[in-house]
Amino acid sequence: MISPNEAHMPHVRKRLFVGLLAASLFVVGLLAFTIWYLLYHPTTLLHQVILVSTVVLIIVGVVIVAFGVGGIVLTIWLAQTIKPLQPLIRVAMTTLFPFAIGLGKVFHIDGDKIKNSFISVNNELVRTNPLQLRPEQVLLLAPHCIQENTCPYKVTNDTNNCRRCGKCKVSDLLALRDRYGIRVGVATGGTLARKLVKEYRPRAIVAIACERDLASGIQDCSPIPVLGVLNDRPFGPCFNTSVYTPGVTDAIEFFIGNQNHGKGEEKKH
Ligand code: SF4
Repeated sequence: MISPNEAHMPHVRKRLFVGLLAASLFVVGLLAFTIWYLLYHPTTLLHQVILVSTVVLIIVGVVIVAFGVGGIVLTIWLAQTIKPLQPLIRVAMTTLFPFAIGLGKVFHIDGDKIKNSFISVNNELVRTNPLQLRPEQVLLLAPHCIQENTCPYKVTNDTNNCRRCGKCKVSDLLALRDRYGIRVGVATGGTLARKLVKEYRPRAIVAIACERDLASGIQDCSPIPVLGVLNDRPFGPCFNTSVYTPGVTDAIEFFIGNQNHGKGEEKKH
């Protein structure tokens, strides 16, 4: 995730999520061992076969996820994609996320902090696999709360309804669309966001949202690479939110390269 605060604690954020993933894995492994230990006194052969098969399945699952967690750590450490581990990394990120949130609750770690960490890990993983896409293959998705609350123009139907008065960041996002030639959508929620993804069929997404929506959106869109940019919420959640435009620009340029694909507007942040 890219925000003005990025510079302060990026490593702590990544460590938190990866640490919780590893801890979740340990808990699941311990659980499997406990089941094995407590139940390994079956009375019949069939009973024994069922029990052993169940435990073997759990162990196989744990091993797959362990390879996924290993893949996450290796990818970040080497700063390079390890292609064969990609599916396992996806499985680990998806299956262990709820465990990490649950474990965070036990240790009284704020859920947003864990989601923040998840987004940082995701962004790091995406950035280890440089892509060179055409601008129209990139979708910039923004939440509806980024629009100025009193604005009478409905930009969720058509972003061109925006009069670009500059009162909110929608005008900046449209300037980015014009400069780079990417697609832009403003969504009122997950359903509309999914509809836009279905309609545009992007090869990559730059998503602006809060921790909760980014974390779920990244998982929903998998395997499409998503770079998440956290929105700023000076008036609280879901109301007149904003975004750090250079962070969005940086994410767009990661996918399409630092080229001016648009109508020749001078680049300004
Ligand atoms: S920039 Fe566009 S969306 Fe924002 S307040 Fe002005 S007209 Fe409305």
